[in-house]
Amino acid sequence: IRALADIAHGAGAILCVDNCFLSPVLQQPLKLGADLVVHSATKYLDGQGRCMGGAVVGDAQRVGKEVFGFMRTAGPSMSPFNAWVFLKGLETLGLRMRAHCESALALAQWLETQKGIRRVFHPGLVSHPQHELAKRQHLKVSPGGITGFGGIVSFEVEGGREAAWKVIDSVQMLSITANLGDTRTTITHPATTTHGRISAEARKLAGITEGLVRVAVGLENVEDIINDLSGGL
Ligand SMILES: *Cc1c(COP(=O)(O)O)cnc(C)c1O
Repeated sequence: IRALADIAHGAGAILCVDNCFLSPVLQQPLKLGADLVVHSATKYLDGQGRCMGGAVVGDAQRVGKEVFGFMRTAGPSMSPFNAWVFLKGLETLGLRMRAHCESALALAQWLETQKGIRRVFHPGLVSHPQHELAKRQHLKVSPGGITGFGGIVSFEVEGGREAAWKVIDSVQMLSITANLGDTRTTITHPATTTHGRISAEARKLAGITEGLVRVAVGLENVEDIINDLSGGL
């Protein structure tokens, strides 16, 4: 983020970071030089899949005047009930993120030992190309605790789309949906859901293969999550 901020500022641009996957508990981009941060409150800020909302964070000019002015004119304002739900969610955000991180790392490490899996992606894995960078950039889940690598794990199965769908369709406990940041673990096939509307070339460039499965690890016992995935694998 620091390097991207320098490049952006050198070119007279601003840097906006989508911080949905980590939440403010695990990464604070403004401190690393970013100018704007966006959060989907629908995800970890609520944390229980109840409401849709979002947040734009930045300074008094950009957010206080420009974003606020646009929102007031264009009209997408949050209902008081949703705002209340998000505020209640924030009260447990730190504890939840810690649990998501611990379980996601355990799941990722287990997946790496399984047959039929080409590759596991999670920044907490030593095998991840940006593991060291994530370690420097992310925050700890608690003072003296582990680094927060987030609750998202993805893996590529051998056998392409058919094999990936088989894994996904076999789950009993996990929810099959593209949402993330819920107390419940969710599983999805990015190539046909979150990235289904971009071209095959763009998917390839982004590393979204047909065999890729994404899991957003929830707050269930991680052994139950592992047992559920074992069936399809
Ligand atoms: C879900 C998501 C969004 C969009 O958030 P909504 O609340 O669904 O509008 C943006 N960025 C990332 C990384 C997301 O996961």
